[in-house]
Amino acid sequence: MLKLESVFTSALPADPIEAQYPRQVFDAMFSWVKPKGFPNAEIKLLNKDLCKSWNIEESVFTAQSFSDIMHGNLIAEGSMPYAMCYGGHQFGQWAGQLGDGRAINLGELALKSTYVTLQLKGAGPTPYARTADGFAVLRSSIREFLMSEAMHYLGIPTTRALTLSVTGESVLRDIMYNGDAAHEPGAIVCRTAPSFLRFGNYEIFAVRRDVVNLKKLADFTIDQFFGEFAGYSDKYLAWFKDVAEMTCDLIVHWQRVGFVHGVMNTDNMSILGLTIDYGPYGWMDDYDPNFTPNTTDLPHKRYRFSNQPMIAQWNLMALGKALMPLINDEQSIVSILNDFATHYEEKYHAMMSSKLGLEPSLVSKEFLQNLESLLEKDEMDMTMFYSQLLEIDSSTQQNEFIHILKDVSYNSGKMSDKCVNWLVEYQLLLKGSSLTSHQRRKLMQKVNPRYVLRNYMNQMAIEAAYQGDFGLVEEFFEMIKSPYTKNEKYEKWFAKRPDWAKEKIGSSMLSCSS
Ligand code: AMP
Ligand code: MG
Repeated sequence: MLKLESVFTSALPADPIEAQYPRQVFDAMFSWVKPKGFPNAEIKLLNKDLCKSWNIEESVFTAQSFSDIMHGNLIAEGSMPYAMCYGGHQFGQWAGQLGDGRAINLGELALKSTYVTLQLKGAGPTPYARTADGFAVLRSSIREFLMSEAMHYLGIPTTRALTLSVTGESVLRDIMYNGDAAHEPGAIVCRTAPSFLRFGNYEIFAVRRDVVNLKKLADFTIDQFFGEFAGYSDKYLAWFKDVAEMTCDLIVHWQRVGFVHGVMNTDNMSILGLTIDYGPYGWMDDYDPNFTPNTTDLPHKRYRFSNQPMIAQWNLMALGKALMPLINDEQSIVSILNDFATHYEEKYHAMMSSKLGLEPSLVSKEFLQNLESLLEKDEMDMTMFYSQLLEIDSSTQQNEFIHILKDVSYNSGKMSDKCVNWLVEYQLLLKGSSLTSHQRRKLMQKVNPRYVLRNYMNQMAIEAAYQGDFGLVEEFFEMIKSPYTKNEKYEKWFAKRPDWAKEKIGSSMLSCSS
């Protein structure tokens, strides 16, 4: 049977109230939770590769006891389930206490030299549920399971998904917030990560001027996850700097593949630089810097693709402000925030150069800006454009460009002069590169995914699953494991978003209702 430990809860203060009613929780990092339990729940997906990577016998995960633990029907040995207390800035405004309203942490699984926390999302309400029900619907759970795994295989830091279960109970949701509520199947995803701590876990104590608990949590975080700084006299600053760097790297990855998180509130920012909380995220089909997948974000598009780096910096500013009582050095915090912008520029430049298969020294800022502008104007499919660019080398004739980029643009007109001129310039740069054609292709293939989980694909898988057919969910779960390697089996998904999906809810835009 699965054995867990209570590393977080034994080190940090608990909410003394054990009753489950919604409330403000002070002087504590978490509240104990009794999972409601779902006697009719059933595991639909088990992430066997993740289990294997933990080196734990397969029988542990196939036992009935494991299924019972995943559904809150059984408490694992050593497990003391809890929900974390955190706050957050939502859409730029302080939103007060939020916390794990529907996420129940089971505890930590001890691996060879680390721990991994197991968390059930959608397993019932906690003291942080406020007015919500604590449940999750199948559609958003499929989206979370598949995309968190897709991100992992794309090489992007992320929480992982261990299981996807249907609860056998229905949940009422008003998808478009228009009074048209309907029952949907409930689901639970067991998510895993070294830690689910967010910027908001620290902010809540700072806002409440509770420096004692802020320090306790910061010390715990450093000891557990940033041990290299533990002995430093300025350990809080060193830690903050590291979080800024990890967050910077994360955003560069998102921009590389065209992922738009959609709700970059500070309660959705991992202290470990992981992609966390897969809600109304979206994938870029036609390259559009203004794209936001979240209907709630439409008025200002705060969380649009091109704003993600700036928002990450804003969120780090909120974290830096929260850590001020520990760091006591405003100037150093400001300089880390300023460095974020310069480091981002450098890393973005290096990343974009790798997408083009060129040494960064050959690629000017203007050349990249011209590329971004042509991708947008010519409505190029981001994923397909970069994949097809592999087919162009310095000797490709201009009249072949059209053939190579055929079916890559969403506008049916002829290839723009801007595009042709850029490609000609690209060929000149290729001539000046010291990489062989083979080396260049290898480099490009490592950073430009061929198979990505577009919004409409998720939606197709969800619609089939709602009819009881998980075939497409399973197919995508396989496909996402090798996103960079051409595979005949998946070539049908190397295609633009079909027209029917352009305006369809779930396939283009998503609400936060989940
Ligand atoms: P999110 O927008 O999903 O990041 O959630 C923001 C906050 O709302 C977090 O504190 C969640 O735990 C909480 N929340 C979202 N949906 C629910 C739900 N169905 N039941 C309880 N809490 C929820
Ligand atoms: Mg969240």
